[in-house]
Amino acid sequence: MLKAILAIGVAAISLSGVDGQGTPDRMTEKGESSIKDPNLECQPYLYEPVASALASFPGIWSGATIVDGDTNALAKWAAIQPNVPDIPPKGTLQGNFDGLNYGSDDPDCWWTNTKCVKPKASGIPEDIWIMPEPRTLGYGFDDGPNCSHNAFYDYLASQNQKATMFFIGSNVMDWPLETQRAVADGHEVCIHGWSHQYMTAFQNEDAFAELYYSAYFFDGPFPIIKRPKPYGIIGMQAIKLGAGVTPTCWRPPFGDVDDRIRAIANGLGLRTMLWQYDSQDWQVGVTPDITSESVDHEYQLMIDDAKKGMFNTAGTIMLFHELDDYTMSEAMKWYPKLKESFDHILPVGVGYNVTQPYVEDSITQPNFIQYTSGTGSTLLRNSSNTSPGSTVTTGSTTPGGITEVRLDDTVKKTGDAARLGLGWNGGASVVAALLLGLAFIFFGLSAH
Ligand SMILES: [Zn+2]
Repeated sequence: MLKAILAIGVAAISLSGVDGQGTPDRMTEKGESSIKDPNLECQPYLYEPVASALASFPGIWSGATIVDGDTNALAKWAAIQPNVPDIPPKGTLQGNFDGLNYGSDDPDCWWTNTKCVKPKASGIPEDIWIMPEPRTLGYGFDDGPNCSHNAFYDYLASQNQKATMFFIGSNVMDWPLETQRAVADGHEVCIHGWSHQYMTAFQNEDAFAELYYSAYFFDGPFPIIKRPKPYGIIGMQAIKLGAGVTPTCWRPPFGDVDDRIRAIANGLGLRTMLWQYDSQDWQVGVTPDITSESVDHEYQLMIDDAKKGMFNTAGTIMLFHELDDYTMSEAMKWYPKLKESFDHILPVGVGYNVTQPYVEDSITQPNFIQYTSGTGSTLLRNSSNTSPGSTVTTGSTTPGGITEVRLDDTVKKTGDAARLGLGWNGGASVVAALLLGLAFIFFGLSAH
């Protein structure tokens, strides 16, 4: 009888995410997503699958390197390495490029230098930085998951608005349930590096690790995808890190990318997504001259350009952040005006008809027509499990003389090579797992 009551209790918590006393269950995505108090949201929690796996990852918020003995990562890197152009690392990881003797002809297509988006090395697809369809805004947010994002995600859900979320690997480790919420809410999840440093400064192998381990995490237990029934406290103890989703897109921190880094990302099946307009929202409180007024000004500038018809041939992408409460509140404040100014606001991949946003075909997302007609505005599970083969382009749009970006020959076909690191090491002892769990709590607390 007691067992039955307990089982019912656990099931109730799992279904609602909240127990009878209104205490959220901080071990499930549902429970975590139900929290309204930002202070509670940002109290670190122990999520066992992550705590147990820490030894298989680089240190959280440290520059990534291939973990000792990670044969999967080494094999993957060995396969990619021959295709990486011989370009030396630039400057420092903090973005100091002083004294760098770099050719004015921009031989490496270094975005930081010239905003170059068309690789000069062969075999690498062009970056995505605008939207192919007119009067369309590619809507994306960097630097998440932020622990206090529930109000923002609730708002997006209330507007039935999906976006592209560029998540930092270390943030994902700190806030795994917030990561799961993005997937559960139907957002398109992409990668934004492991430690959020200037990518062109990394040595080859470390740049690979920055992307590889960020993607690797997503190979984790997303209940919405793999678990037909809600799992609770008991079920969690049985979870192995198994098949999940692996992103096929990334955005370089600070936009810092050149052909060397593009080649590494491409080898991992990651399409590079940049932007055309910069809200500068992340710089408030960081850069003395940037204030909330100047951020408003940047939003307004893009809206004015929309009014002038600048996007009547091709749409655009603006850089926004899930970095803190300010950047998220700014996004909510401006959303109604953006809605007035554009015909369509959608995840970047939707604008390019990327119907299979992850390597695995367990999830599809609507194409442009489906999304904008409202017939496919929610995340779709692919129950047939057949290869969708539906990553198509609009075909007709070649905006403003810009070479049309075709994803069908790049993302989809490189995707098979991006089945990233299955080397979940279940051999760690219980004691080690507990110690790691404690370390997780402490490091999680001191991460920011
Ligand atoms: Zn960033």
